[in-house]
Amino acid sequence: MSRQLSNFPGGLHLPGHKELSVGEAVAAAEIPNRLIIPLHQHIGAAAEPLVEAGQKVLKGEMLAKAKGFVSAAVHASSSGTILAIEDRPVAHPSGLPALCIVLETDGEDVWCERHPVEDYHSLDPSALRNIIRDAGIVGLGGAGFPAYIKLNPGARTAVDTLILNGAECEPYITCDDRLMRERADEIIAGARIMRHALQASKSLIAIEDNKPEAIASVREALERLDIDDIEVVEVPTRYPMGGEKQLIKVVTGKEVPSQGLPLDIGVVCHNVATAAAVHRSVELGEPLISRIVTLTGGVERPRNLEVRIGTPIEELLPQAGGLSANVERLIVGGPMMGFTLQHREAPVVKTVNCILAATREMDASRGPVRPCIRCGACAEACPVSLLPQQLYWYARAKDFDKVQDYNLFDCIECGCCAYVCPSNLPLVQFYRFAKTEIWSQEREKKASDLARERHEFRTARIEREKAERAARMARKKAAVKGDQGTGDNAKKDAIKAAMERAKAKKEGAGTQPKNTEDLTKEQRRKLAEAKARREKALKDQAPNGASGGKEEK
Ligand code: SF4
Ligand code: SF4
Repeated sequence: MSRQLSNFPGGLHLPGHKELSVGEAVAAAEIPNRLIIPLHQHIGAAAEPLVEAGQKVLKGEMLAKAKGFVSAAVHASSSGTILAIEDRPVAHPSGLPALCIVLETDGEDVWCERHPVEDYHSLDPSALRNIIRDAGIVGLGGAGFPAYIKLNPGARTAVDTLILNGAECEPYITCDDRLMRERADEIIAGARIMRHALQASKSLIAIEDNKPEAIASVREALERLDIDDIEVVEVPTRYPMGGEKQLIKVVTGKEVPSQGLPLDIGVVCHNVATAAAVHRSVELGEPLISRIVTLTGGVERPRNLEVRIGTPIEELLPQAGGLSANVERLIVGGPMMGFTLQHREAPVVKTVNCILAATREMDASRGPVRPCIRCGACAEACPVSLLPQQLYWYARAKDFDKVQDYNLFDCIECGCCAYVCPSNLPLVQFYRFAKTEIWSQEREKKASDLARERHEFRTARIEREKAERAARMARKKAAVKGDQGTGDNAKKDAIKAAMERAKAKKEGAGTQPKNTEDLTKEQRRKLAEAKARREKALKDQAPNGASGGKEEK
C-alpha cells in the first residue's frame, strides 16, 4: 500500500539543470600535493589539534579531536607530513581565514590501522555513537551538524521514524543522486546502523520523483538484500522538498513545532550521504575523509568527483575541464542557498556538496533592484508561511525585536521569496544580516551578563568577608570582656569563701571537743597542778602583778 503524502505551503517548481552533471559516474579526484584541513568544518566548536608541524601521519589518522559536546574530529585525508597549523582562506561567506592543518601528501596514501565492527548489533547504541563521533561524521546535506548528536535521542524520547533525506531538491546538485544510483547498499547499511543507534521503530528513504534511477537502484538493493523494513518513498519534485521540516511534513503529515526539533515529534532526519558515511565508519573503520562533490555550471565537463577533504577547490576545476570563459564567480552549494566563494584556494570541507560556476548569463537573469511594490508574491512562495515582506522591512530598519516577532528564526533561507520578488530585492541577505546581528547582540549580552555576574559575585564575596571579619572581632571582644567579668567574680568569690571559712573557724572553735574530758582522777590532779604552776609563773612575770598572757583554755 502506497503511503499517503501530505503537503507544505509555498515552494517552487524550479528548472533543475541536473542533466548537466548527473550522467557521468562518480570518479575519484586526484590527491593534491597539499591538503588544507580546517579545524572548523561543522556546527559547534572547532576541533582541537593532536599533531604538530613536522609529524608524519597516515591516512585516516585523527589530526584533531572534537572539543566539547557539539564538535567533530578531523582526520588525515591521505598520508604525509604536517607542514603547519595556521590560518588559511576557507570556504565561508565571510571570506575570513580560519585555522587549518596543512598536510603535505607523500603520494603513498597509506591507511592507518582500522577497526571495523563485525557485528554492530552486539554494540549498544552509545558505543555506536562513540564510533560515529570519533569518525568525525557530520550532516553531509550541507548543515554540518555532528551526526552522533542527532543519533542520540536521550533516554526519555522514543524515536518513531528515521527518515533518510534523498530529496536533493536544489537545482544543479547531483551528488546524492549519483550516490543513490551507485552506492545504495552503503546507504541501506548506514540506515540500519542509524536505526539501531536510535532504536527507531520505522525507517524510510525519501527521494524526489525526478530521480527515477536513484529510486530504482535503492529499491533493487533492498530487494536483493532481502530487507523489507526500510521503505522507499517517492516525494514530488518541488523546492525546498529537501528542507528537513518540509520533508517531514510531506512524508509523515506531522509538523515540527516553531523553533522546535524533529525529535519533538519523534522523527530524526539524516542525509543519505551521512548514512553511507556512518556505514563506512562502523563497518569499515574509515573516518570521514572524503565526500562526493558536484562540479557544474560553467565548467567544460560537469561531473561528480569523490574529493578528499582539504583539497583546494582551484585544483578541482581542471578535473572538470576548467572554467568556461563566461564564468563570473564560483558558488559553494546551489544557486538558491549557496554563497559566493571568495578564495579559490580554499579547500573542500565536509559540508561542500557542489561548486557551481555561475556564468554571466545566470547572474544577469536578475534585473536591477527596485522598491517593494507590496505584491505579496514572496508570502505565497514561502514554505514556512512567513511574511517575507515584513521581515525585510524590519530587518532593513534594524528593528530586531519586531523581526523576531515575525519568526525570523523559522526562516530556512531557502530563497523562494527572493526568487519570485519582481523587485529583485536581496531578501535573504537581509534575513542573514538580521540573524547575525541578533546572534552577535546575544553574544555581547551574554558576555556582559557574565561580566556583571562576576562583578556581583566579587562584591558579594568582599561584603561577606567583611561581615565575617567583623563578626570575628565582635566575638573576640566579647570573649575578652567575658574573661574580665569572670576574673572579678572569682576574686569576689574567693574573698567571700575566705570570710566564710574564717567565720566557720571562729564559730567552730568554741564547739571543739576538749581533750581534758574523760580524764582519770590522777590525771586531773596533775593537770590542776600544772595549771596552777603556769598561772603563778605568769603572775610572777607581770610587772604590775596583772596577767599579760592569753587565758589558756
Ligand atoms: S515579492 Fe518583493 S515586491 Fe512583492 S511584496 Fe514581496 S518583497 Fe515586496
Ligand atoms: S527565505 Fe525565509 S522568508 Fe524567504 S521564502 Fe524561504 S523561509 Fe520564507
